[in-house]
Amino acid sequence: MDSYDIVIIGAGPAGSMAAYNLARKFKVLMLEAHKVPRNKSCSGVLIKKAVDLINKNFGHIPDDVKSRPYTTNGITIVNEAMVAQDFCDNGVNVLRDRFDYWLMQKAVEAGTEIKDNSRVVNISENENKVTVTIKGDKVYDVDAKIVLACDGVNGVSRRLTNSPQQDKVVTYQKFYHAVASFDTSKFYAYIAKDFSQYDAWINTKNDCIIVGTIAKKLTTAKSLHQSFIEYLTTHKEFKILNEVKEETWCIPLVIPDFPILLRKKRVFFAGEVAGLLNPFGEGISLALFSGLCFAEACLKQNSFKLCDWTEIEYNYTSSMKNEIEYMKRQWLFLKKFYPYFWNNVLQSNQ
Ligand SMILES: Cc1cc2nc3c(=O)[nH]c(=O)nc-3n(C[C@H](O)[C@H](O)[C@H](O)COP(=O)(O)OP(=O)(O)OC[C@H]3O[C@@H](n4cnc5c(N)ncnc54)[C@H](O)[C@@H]3O)c2cc1C
Repeated sequence: MDSYDIVIIGAGPAGSMAAYNLARKFKVLMLEAHKVPRNKSCSGVLIKKAVDLINKNFGHIPDDVKSRPYTTNGITIVNEAMVAQDFCDNGVNVLRDRFDYWLMQKAVEAGTEIKDNSRVVNISENENKVTVTIKGDKVYDVDAKIVLACDGVNGVSRRLTNSPQQDKVVTYQKFYHAVASFDTSKFYAYIAKDFSQYDAWINTKNDCIIVGTIAKKLTTAKSLHQSFIEYLTTHKEFKILNEVKEETWCIPLVIPDFPILLRKKRVFFAGEVAGLLNPFGEGISLALFSGLCFAEACLKQNSFKLCDWTEIEYNYTSSMKNEIEYMKRQWLFLKKFYPYFWNNVLQSNQ
């Protein structure tokens, strides 16, 4: 049986950031359920905070990973009375399959061993090690001193470690060749109940305009999506030329006081599976940051043994503290300035 210092589950931004930094000192295996490059339903807007973390750790984002317009200019929140307010932020527009693949390759260059098409199906622990069971072409086990779960909202690590499950909402978005009277560098979030049980959005990627919404159930999301399209057609000169594709996914319903899970025995959690998500579904900056904080906590260990996982937990949670508080402060800001949004999200998803 192969043995590693650290096994990372999931090759998204959280997993690759952790792997990239850890591989300098430890023997690291990163497992990805899908064949890479894999798609992840996403608006692909990297806020400035995420871009800064990437530049510092991985270098500049190559153009072939980006989608047009390459730079984004923040979020415009359109309230229930259809009044728009801009929140500027200099970000970057990326295609998630290419972006995540680029990050993963950086982790491999740093020394990470990667196995794609390798789905984790079991995690078991004894006193000294964690055994991870993988289903690929065959079923087999690997051992690790500790595990970092970065398997996102649809992952299995919470269930396999008997941790509390995440409450989720469904995202539904369609890609269109279309015309509309919007600033293509902006991400528009509409909070009216007629369009969403969270927010409905419109943004641009290459030659597509993407229209999406969120609800507790997919059938509700589809019906709200239709109402939103009708509104855009009537009021925003939105004209569909043809439909390109549709995507259904989930986001964890992260609202204030939602419990965040950073460790269960020898299994640590980062990114979305830990419950890290900013309001309006921005999660890449938190995925990158938590992956980095976990790696730094491990790198502080003097020996190669990684035996003192309580110390790793202490350092990891300490460095995440401010970011988690910031996440919660944003909700308090929204409660103050957008009480309608706050109430809609809480009431719709009870
Ligand atoms: C519609 C939509 C739009 C979004 N738009 C934005 C946006 O514009 N900007 C932003 O910052 N955030 C956005 N988000 C959120 C963002 O996509 C996530 O927060 C982010 O991807 C989380 O990163 P992660 O590394 O934690 O997990 P993920 O990126 O989800 O990666 C998890 C990985 O784990 C793998 N995996 C799962 N189960 C297993 C298993 N059993 N074994 C092995 N591997 C496994 C998955 O295949 C996947 O590759 C959006 C989300 C949605 C749904």
